[in-house]
Amino acid sequence: MVIDASDVRFNAAVRFAGGRIEAVEPAQGLTRDEEQTILAPGLVNAHAHLDLGAAPPGEPPAGGFLGWVAAVMKTRGGTTEAEVGAGARGAASRLLATGTTTVLDIDASGAGREALEGSPLRLVSLREVIDGSPSSPDDRTGAALEFAREAVHRPITERRASGLSPHGVHTVSDALLGELSRLSSGAPVVIHWAETPEETLWMLEGEGPFSDWLGPSPRVSGAERLRRAGLLRGAVLVHGNHPAPGELEALVGFDVAVVHCPGSHMYFSRPPFALEDFHAAGIAVALGTDSAASNADLDMHREIRIARETLGVSGAEAWRMATEVGARIAPWAHVSGRLGVGDAADLQRLRPAVWSGEAQRDGEALLDLLTAGELAVEGVWIAGARVEG
Ligand SMILES: [Zn+2]
Repeated sequence: MVIDASDVRFNAAVRFAGGRIEAVEPAQGLTRDEEQTILAPGLVNAHAHLDLGAAPPGEPPAGGFLGWVAAVMKTRGGTTEAEVGAGARGAASRLLATGTTTVLDIDASGAGREALEGSPLRLVSLREVIDGSPSSPDDRTGAALEFAREAVHRPITERRASGLSPHGVHTVSDALLGELSRLSSGAPVVIHWAETPEETLWMLEGEGPFSDWLGPSPRVSGAERLRRAGLLRGAVLVHGNHPAPGELEALVGFDVAVVHCPGSHMYFSRPPFALEDFHAAGIAVALGTDSAASNADLDMHREIRIARETLGVSGAEAWRMATEVGARIAPWAHVSGRLGVGDAADLQRLRPAVWSGEAQRDGEALLDLLTAGELAVEGVWIAGARVEG
């Protein structure tokens, strides 16, 4: 059993009541078959867009990232609300079937959150607001503000929290950003940041392909723009592939966290993610799938495997990023990403395709197996109740 990345126990069992773990104790009379399985905490997907469904994308379209954005917008424009809802439910099912029990989800229209009302997932739903660009808002500012007000006034419950997602540091007007800052006190705030070199170039200098799309540049980094608006503190920043020079240092002391999306990163063939720079700056990095529009699957076990392959992290570190780090940046979900006494009884039962003798004795070897090999997810529990994908 994996209590957490530094505490693996063999032949152990958990007892839970009222949705929380009461005891972790030596298991009595495990069958041979049960001995071949691993109990582990449910995974935290720190960045998803469930309303974009679960169907895998085709090849990245011509025209680079902006070509991809245009293709996603076109598909979304031709999708009915009922189809969006069905897509969100399909995506949520995929998460549950692959061992994710908590998700920070960007909700573009409200339809996704509504469709997931009955889902057993722990859902931190971030209402997306977007109104053009820093100095050139379009006619969406007023409506965006209404959506934001509605989201922050929604009550937080054991499995549901609502917050805000100003779409990106480059796609929200100064006026809206200021209003969101006033509204957001204590609420979750998730923002796309420094995803592409074109974005960073445009933010700093107003040049490149983003200038046709976004007009005049603010000529400051995304971090600085959020700081000035009062939205930086406690923010969850997604991607961070191309920070401006000195921008990481500017995040220090603001209690921000970053989400890296390994599968989406691979889909766009991005250069290696500089995890060590974030760690050197003391910034926590969690893992997410991003949407099915830029990822072949919504399976966090696959994200962990890709993270190990591409970031050069240990099994323990990759596991932490998908459990404890994600849980820490989402306190509204009431999980720890661990299986300790008092923690949420969010569990998954896993069966590795191949066992090694060492992994049956040694915690580090077991985490290696868990984060690098193929696994079957045989059962998932949230708050102590078995759930179906
Ligand atoms: Zn995203």
